[in-house]
Amino acid sequence: MIIVLFGKPGAGKGTQAPLLAERLEVKTLATGDVLRAAVREGTPRGMEAKAYMDRGDLVPDEVILAIVQEALAKPEYANGAILDGVVRTVPQAEGLAKALREMGREVDAVLCFSIDNEEIVRRLASRTVCEKCQTPYSDLEPGAPCTQPGCGGRVVRRKDDEPEAIRRRLEVFEQQTAPVFDWYKRHGTRVIEIDAVGDVEAVTNRALHGLGR
Ligand code: AMP
Repeated sequence: MIIVLFGKPGAGKGTQAPLLAERLEVKTLATGDVLRAAVREGTPRGMEAKAYMDRGDLVPDEVILAIVQEALAKPEYANGAILDGVVRTVPQAEGLAKALREMGREVDAVLCFSIDNEEIVRRLASRTVCEKCQTPYSDLEPGAPCTQPGCGGRVVRRKDDEPEAIRRRLEVFEQQTAPVFDWYKRHGTRVIEIDAVGDVEAVTNRALHGLGR
């Protein structure tokens, strides 16, 4: 089962992905997390991606498709995947479809998290994230210890959650990511729209209900 989580930055994809993964017994693949880890480790891929990410721009499609293809070939994704933060452009949708076709697989559903820009700006301005395990928080200040069992990391503000980068990311969403929604509809993939506003558990339940679980 391959599920694409689709929605604006701050819609809650990163919060919902592990919850849905647990319920559906598949692993998550978050391209943003993979890239942030590469930046921290200073790999060539991380060094290439950093400037795009800090500005709130998209990393080139080739880099993203390479990450996704490498990951989905691993045994841990044999059961399926919850894709968080990918697909973000039409060429990524096309590239992913081709890669999956070659593996005899396909995207089973696109879960679209609907939310307006005002709520996004409010959420991102107060979001922090663990620098080690990447868990997002809305109630911890920068510097606080991560509350995930055994993590031991510290919570930080993401550089791309600064007001200037938030504006840019919303612009990028409208220009480059929004057309992906119609692409999937045109190609006959199941697209499920859910209201992303409300408490975390309510949104998870809406998503599972949409998926028929
Ligand atoms: P995220 O954690 O999903 O908000 O991703 C953080 C940043 O990583 C984005 O603003 C992009 O710069 C980059 N990124 C993550 N996933 C993708 C993708 N599928 N396509 C292009 N850039 C991406």
